[in-house]
Amino acid sequence: MTCKNCGAVLKNGERVCPACGTPAEPKNVRSTPILIFGVLGAGLAFSGVFGLVFSLLALIRSRAFARETDGVLFGKAKAGKILAVVGLALSLVALVTAGVLLALGLAGVELPVVPSSLFR
Ligand SMILES: [Zn+2]
Repeated sequence: MTCKNCGAVLKNGERVCPACGTPAEPKNVRSTPILIFGVLGAGLAFSGVFGLVFSLLALIRSRAFARETDGVLFGKAKAGKILAVVGLALSLVALVTAGVLLALGLAGVELPVVPSSLFR
């Protein structure tokens, strides 16, 4: 394995490049799926459930990634985690909003979005 920053050869199990200090990509946890899950989590946040699931997948994988790099997140893993945090927050907002609208609808409250006077 070689350092992706300076090209120096890394010995097996070396977590940081001895020449330039760049963290090595973990062997067992790839960073690309973290980014993909993060993008899906943030992109599907409006749907609530799917955004939540993908954001959590990205967060779980980014934790596994960080375990292999002594807690350092970088590159696609870092971007994926940031997207996942945003996706998680937006998904929760979407779920709460949907829940409130559903509760109001079940309670028979008229929503100001569609005034019923329009239809009279
Ligand atoms: Zn290096």
